Amino acid sequence: MKTIGLIGGMSWESSAIYYELLNKEVKNILGGYHSAKSVMVSVDFAEIETLQRKNDWQSLTQRMIEAAQQLEKSGADLVILCTNTMHLCSEAIIENTTIPFLHIADATGEKIQSQGLQKVALLGTKFTMEKDFYKTVLKNYNVQVLIPELDDREQIHQIIYNELVLGEINDTSREIFKKIIAKLKNEGAEGVILGCTEIPLLIKQSDVDIPIFNTTEIHAEKAVQNAVKN
Ligand code: GLU
Repeated sequence: MKTIGLIGGMSWESSAIYYELLNKEVKNILGGYHSAKSVMVSVDFAEIETLQRKNDWQSLTQRMIEAAQQLEKSGADLVILCTNTMHLCSEAIIENTTIPFLHIADATGEKIQSQGLQKVALLGTKFTMEKDFYKTVLKNYNVQVLIPELDDREQIHQIIYNELVLGEINDTSREIFKKIIAKLKNEGAEGVILGCTEIPLLIKQSDVDIPIFNTTEIHAEKAVQNAVKN
């Protein structure tokens, strides 16, 4: 079995879920006492959030490269970056490491394509919804992306940073998400990407009537498939 390297802490609320999912999935596949071989480099999210707010992507990229190199030195055979947003730095990580990097949007695009959907809504931080780095990858899987209107994007972003990454789950926020997803469904979305690793803490499949794509789960599953294959 390969050792999975995780860049975590963004936020730790979702990194903890990744850790659990990796182990459960390995147990599912291999059974018995099996669990995932992994190493995690976990950052202080306060530092990351400050740099994000300053739009200092150069420093953020440097941090992500260093974390990935640390994993490589620790014996990781592959890297997963446990946040959608920070995939803005993925190209630089790939260029500065030699072990495989499993992109969260590749895993998600594959999953959407395998279910035969073509038009899906993307919910995440403003960085993920508004910039191109994520949507470009999804295009390789013939996935067309709908994003919420500006006010709704703002609300989602605030709920992520003021509540979800702090582990706060509020019913009123869930209702806001449900309304936004219903609007996007009316605009033609056949499914919805929970494109922030903390959104699945708030929104479950039973909350919405179109398929959800839980990126945390999809990414963890992909990492395990890769780790257990020869
Ligand atoms: N975990 C979140 C994501 O998947 C947001 C936190 C961050 O900015 O990394 O995008």
